[in-house]
Amino acid sequence: MLAELGEDARVLAGGQSLVPMLNLRLARPSALVDVGRVDELSGISSNGSLRVGATTRQADALRSEVVAGRTPLLTAALRHVGHPATRSRGTVGGSIAHADPAAELPAVLLALDGEVVVVSARGERVIPAASLFTGPFETALDEGELLTAVRFGDMPEGAGFGFSEIARRRGDFALAGAAVVVAPGYARVALFAVASCAFRATEAERALEQGGGAEEAAALAAAACDPSDDPHAPAAYRREVARVATLRALLEAGVARG
Ligand code: FAD
Repeated sequence: MLAELGEDARVLAGGQSLVPMLNLRLARPSALVDVGRVDELSGISSNGSLRVGATTRQADALRSEVVAGRTPLLTAALRHVGHPATRSRGTVGGSIAHADPAAELPAVLLALDGEVVVVSARGERVIPAASLFTGPFETALDEGELLTAVRFGDMPEGAGFGFSEIARRRGDFALAGAAVVVAPGYARVALFAVASCAFRATEAERALEQGGGAEEAAALAAAACDPSDDPHAPAAYRREVARVATLRALLEAGVARG
């Protein structure tokens, strides 16, 4: 249907971002392809890596014991995604495809070296998280591609993880946030809400892998941010909030303050 309807058609999943955009006339699609009730696009499985079907509701992923057991970082982040009401409709795939720079799930996917499966009339392909997020509300999905599943990688044996975000009110989009996975000689530090899209602070990761402490890595992560000035917070404040959120996440992951 997406191929037939052409480039102005949009996928409708949980509608928790797209419908507000329609209301604000920020999106004017020629057609909507509603995938919300396509059963084979929903569901959680963990043979191999954790696989979350694109239309799996955020609330179902949050309640899932499979997710909590296999990928507790995802469970920790889901608690911060919107509100119970929005999570009951919003989908995991929609959050990834929407690629809001302040969204939590893209950062989790980056921190877990995840990937997404996309399909179109041209066939199926896999896009690694590292090349998926290309700008604000932009991904590497091509015209007519439907995201069908999100695969979250496993943390290394014995790794610690941490998630921290700072928002004005619970449920608001974050002013800054960090998702981290740390093990001896291994680090993933993904930040959100402080650049054009979620990104990994590779300098901070290298410092941690070489034995650096949380304070040093948090400062490097803050230096890697490119926050915007906006009515919610000036850029300098966001950068400091990013440093604090990264520090909290790293301390939660068991990294010495250093
Ligand atoms: P939709 O709104 O249906 O679609 C969003 C975009 O993704 C559209 O462009 C659509 O075409 C595309 N899309 C959706 N599914 C697919 C697919 N399978 N393949 C290809 N393209 C697809 N989000 C956060 O991350 N953090 C928050 O704190 C947060 N707070 C919120 C507070 C409120 C009050 C509201 C209303 C929303 C909030 N959200 C937040 C957004 C919410 O999490 C959305 O559910 C999510 O951003 C998009 O998921 P969706 O299923 O609703 O997608």
